[in-house]
Amino acid sequence: MNSRLERLIWRRANHRCEYCQMPQEFDALPFQIDHILARKHGGKTIPRNLALACFFCNNRKGPNIAGRDVLTGRIIRLFNPRRDVWDEHFSWNNELLLGKTMIGRATISVLEINMQHRLTLRQALIAEGVFPPES
Ligand SMILES: [Zn+2]
Repeated sequence: MNSRLERLIWRRANHRCEYCQMPQEFDALPFQIDHILARKHGGKTIPRNLALACFFCNNRKGPNIAGRDVLTGRIIRLFNPRRDVWDEHFSWNNELLLGKTMIGRATISVLEINMQHRLTLRQALIAEGVFPPES
């Protein structure tokens, strides 16, 4: 990936994970550029198929394109930062991320956004008054 494209993705995302909203500056591990539709499924390296993701979101997402909505049991596509509006699918309850839709819940589940060590980090940042970031 060329550095110009990489800079565009970082800037467009405001240096935050486009799934869990964590800013890179508060996360010890370097963020990665996610292929929303993975290369193995034919996803291209173009701006509309790319998103900035924290290490954990990207690592859990892998090549997944769908997950199970815990409420209905249905298999649902994952949140797409390029076509979906974050606030329509997710909301914060303190450090806990809640899915407002099937897409939101399936994404939280596959990306394990509410894993204990992530809750602990968000809790500390909330106490510092720096999370969630202002939109
Ligand atoms: Zn993330």
